[in-house]
Amino acid sequence: MYRLFRKDPFFLQRYTVISSITLILLCGVLSIWSTTLWPWTLIAVLFAHSSFRSVLLAWGIAIVLYFLTVETVSWMAIVGCVALGVFVGLWSNVLIHNASHEMIKPLWLNRIIGELTGLQVLSGFPGFAILHMEHHIHSDHEDLDPHPNLPGQTFWQYIDGTRARLRQTFSQLYQRTWQGRPELMNSWKHIKLLLPLNRALRAIILFKLLGPMGGTFFFITSHVTTQLAFAVINFYSHERQVDGTVQIRNLDHNWIFWILNRTFSGAFYHRNHHQSPKLFNPMKMRGTRGSI
Ligand SMILES: [Zn+2]
Ligand SMILES: [Zn+2]
Repeated sequence: MYRLFRKDPFFLQRYTVISSITLILLCGVLSIWSTTLWPWTLIAVLFAHSSFRSVLLAWGIAIVLYFLTVETVSWMAIVGCVALGVFVGLWSNVLIHNASHEMIKPLWLNRIIGELTGLQVLSGFPGFAILHMEHHIHSDHEDLDPHPNLPGQTFWQYIDGTRARLRQTFSQLYQRTWQGRPELMNSWKHIKLLLPLNRALRAIILFKLLGPMGGTFFFITSHVTTQLAFAVINFYSHERQVDGTVQIRNLDHNWIFWILNRTFSGAFYHRNHHQSPKLFNPMKMRGTRGSI
């Protein structure tokens, strides 16, 4: 994906336009079939907005609206949806990450899994994969890393500001890559408009497919879980030291991470992952078990 972006100047533009058309058509078809009411569409749009607080706000409104409109509440189904959402959210983190490194076999499966998980994380696959490669190339660089752990930043500031920072880094990367081509600078203006539209369309489609209960308790839970997992990995693994430098660590120091790593393919062994990005499960790097 990263190679395609670097090699083909029209790749991103083409992908964004084709996915916009596909998502609009899909949305239209689902609107005929689905009886989901308009407030849920507004919630999906708010949910797809750029900050983590807007995700939490949309989640809160969706929960209130669900209980106000539903006739009978099935607590078993709700608990089941939330549990499944957490499980899928963590696996989505593992799978989109490995797909961006082309670590899923056979090779063609990376694109399919990347696009499916790209739907759930809302960014689409190329947006995630391109920026993730930039993270590996420019780890902890205050300007070039798409999500650096900046000095003095709290975890909340980090997670809430990440999407805005990603958008800004993507724009700078595009302009740096194609600065010798003035006609492409213009195309970024179109891409920049279509990216948030696509995010909103993905959220609307998932709400229409899953309905109010599945959308609220499964989809949003899974999305929040994926975002939280990425934020924990990138904030706490890229640990800022008192002298201002950053040390990359594996997180396996308590029973929660112990269980998570053994259930979700060593997802929090981030130091190992930076040293050996071609391992599907970085915990399997020889002689490197435990927090370092
Ligand atoms: Zn990292
Ligand atoms: Zn990686």
